[in-house]
Amino acid sequence: MKHDIIVSEPIVYLIGRPQFDLDTLAIFLQNEGVEWRRSAGATQAEEIIETAGRICYMSYSERQSPRTNTAYIFNLIAQGHESVLEHVSWTFILTNVSRAFTHQLVRHRVGFSFSQLSQQYHDESDAQFLMPMLVDHLPEAKQVWRSAMETAQQAYHDLMTQLEATFDAEGAQMSPTERRRAIRSASRSVMPNATATKIVVTANARAIRHFLTVRGSIPGDEEMRRVASAILQQMQVEAPALFADFHIQTLSDNSPIVIKAELETKHHES
Ligand SMILES: Cc1cc2nc3c(=O)[nH]c(=O)nc-3n(C[C@H](O)[C@H](O)[C@H](O)COP(=O)(O)OP(=O)(O)OC[C@H]3O[C@@H](n4cnc5c(N)ncnc54)[C@H](O)[C@@H]3O)c2cc1C
Repeated sequence: MKHDIIVSEPIVYLIGRPQFDLDTLAIFLQNEGVEWRRSAGATQAEEIIETAGRICYMSYSERQSPRTNTAYIFNLIAQGHESVLEHVSWTFILTNVSRAFTHQLVRHRVGFSFSQLSQQYHDESDAQFLMPMLVDHLPEAKQVWRSAMETAQQAYHDLMTQLEATFDAEGAQMSPTERRRAIRSASRSVMPNATATKIVVTANARAIRHFLTVRGSIPGDEEMRRVASAILQQMQVEAPALFADFHIQTLSDNSPIVIKAELETKHHES
């Protein structure tokens, strides 16, 4: 049995992104007898959003204003026409995060999908634990925390061993799979909030913006701020216009915090 303590940043792997099919859009535009003046430099996600917005008003050919893609997206957001932002989604794998963090994350119901490492199908005997940075900075707190993790992991191990030896599956009319699930379910009940987990998250741009707004700037929630900042950094490469009103600042302990600005101030920039 390992007592593996992780003290590090969450890792955000971006594994899925929107793909814009320009050739098919060209067929649509031709069938409709309209022309679209594209902006230079827009990303695929940004072009999907612009297309979704333009189709609401069929603002092509002479109905197309001189706005760039960036200005067009700023305007959608400033007007509150944000359902258009739901047409682009990204998929991330998050690792080096705690179950305390994911419990908060999965509260986001709208525009998010989740698939998380199971503690019923996965043996947690070698689970790792995420040490909060606050604890890492204080030697005495660190000792208390380490000892709590070791006790919990030992309890998990002991429960697994005892239940494996004694639990009568036939009496309980359970298949081997359900017996394993029952034993792991009972044993995991002693695992702490700090247990490391992995979660796949798919979210659309509107949902990500909402998440960054309500979760990225809470000073006392460092793990959440670190994940939000890591996601924002990736989003500002993927679709800068969609996330231009957010930026990252650093607190006195060097941890990041996500700040949302008023988009109106950037409205006419492109
Ligand atoms: C500082 C802070 C403290 C918190 N403390 C607690 C706590 O003590 N206990 C606790 O249980 N949770 C707590 N939460 C979680 C919080 O209540 C939300 O569950 C979580 O932040 C998800 O936000 P959301 O509902 O806006 O997001 P989503 O579920 O993604 O919803 C997005 C938006 O859709 C709309 N929406 C979604 N569902 C409905 C609905 N059923 N009816 C109407 N509109 C809807 C709302 O406009 C909502 O903002 C806290 C969150 C924060 C940021």
